[in-house]
Amino acid sequence: MNKNAQDKVKIIHGAGGRAMDQLISDHILNIFTNKSAGKIGLDELDDGATIDGTEGKTVVLTTDSHLVKPLFFPGGDIGRLAVSGTINDLAVMGAKPLALTSSLIIEEGLKLSELDRILSSMEKTCHEAGVPIITGDTKVMEKNDIDKIVINTAGVGITNVPTTDSGLRPGNKVIVTGTIGDHGMALMQYREGLSFKSKLESDIAPLNNLLELAQDSGEITAMKDPTRGGLAAALNEMATKSNLGITLKEKSIPIKEPVLGISELIGISPYNVANEGKAIVVTNAESANNVVNELQKNELGKDARIIGEITEEWPGKVIMETEVGGRRFLDAPLGDPVPRIC
Ligand code: MG
Repeated sequence: MNKNAQDKVKIIHGAGGRAMDQLISDHILNIFTNKSAGKIGLDELDDGATIDGTEGKTVVLTTDSHLVKPLFFPGGDIGRLAVSGTINDLAVMGAKPLALTSSLIIEEGLKLSELDRILSSMEKTCHEAGVPIITGDTKVMEKNDIDKIVINTAGVGITNVPTTDSGLRPGNKVIVTGTIGDHGMALMQYREGLSFKSKLESDIAPLNNLLELAQDSGEITAMKDPTRGGLAAALNEMATKSNLGITLKEKSIPIKEPVLGISELIGISPYNVANEGKAIVVTNAESANNVVNELQKNELGKDARIIGEITEEWPGKVIMETEVGGRRFLDAPLGDPVPRIC
């Protein structure tokens, strides 16, 4: 590769895998020096950061930009995504989301009917989650300077004790709140014109109420939402940060039949693509079954399962035990194989 090509940002740098980690550490973390306002700052690269509040409370702050293509797809749209994504980042930090901001960057020429449809979807999702949008910003760019619309949402939440993505301990159980790969595969199916194959829909949903249930029903040691880079990227990040191993039982991981079908057809692993309505919840061994039972009572958690456990063996690695009894590493992908996914 010539030097010029290396000197530019590439699509893979935004794909939530190893390439993006490299960009963040070499550039963002390297250049910013003032990086925290509480215990969890920019260096932790968690789903959000904390600010020390009053009376022992911790404020959690997060932000996320959304540029999914197309704007409307089976199971969701950019508006539902923008609200859910930010709420979920607060929820997996163990925080109760209090309010959101909405910053719209719109391309000249976007139909007002489409804008209204997106905003109505944001409003509906806010209602579902019980979290309001309380401030925002609107900018318009010239035609072709941006692709239709980009939405940034920031969110603020509050908690007594934040949950990190690195708090796992040996012997803990790993739970997923539902089926894996739905969002990435639904988008791929739609984009590739394969929608005749199945009625697969994205799983986009705000998870704050579901995860509050989980927190009330057991001792949670870590949480993370497996978005870009999927289950594989999220679990590898958790293993690396905690310097512990994660062993998974492949047959316990819930995956919908159509997701497996599309995966086979396009040659992309369901473990490497984004989920937008699922969380990884790590609990102590004693409370794992109770947490799963409580999650399953909620529609958004009805397919929750224990999929593995935390081990001191293989620090920093994720090991998949296959159905036939073999073992292999589940590596973090270089990047989510599906671009413009969230
Ligand atoms: Mg996240």
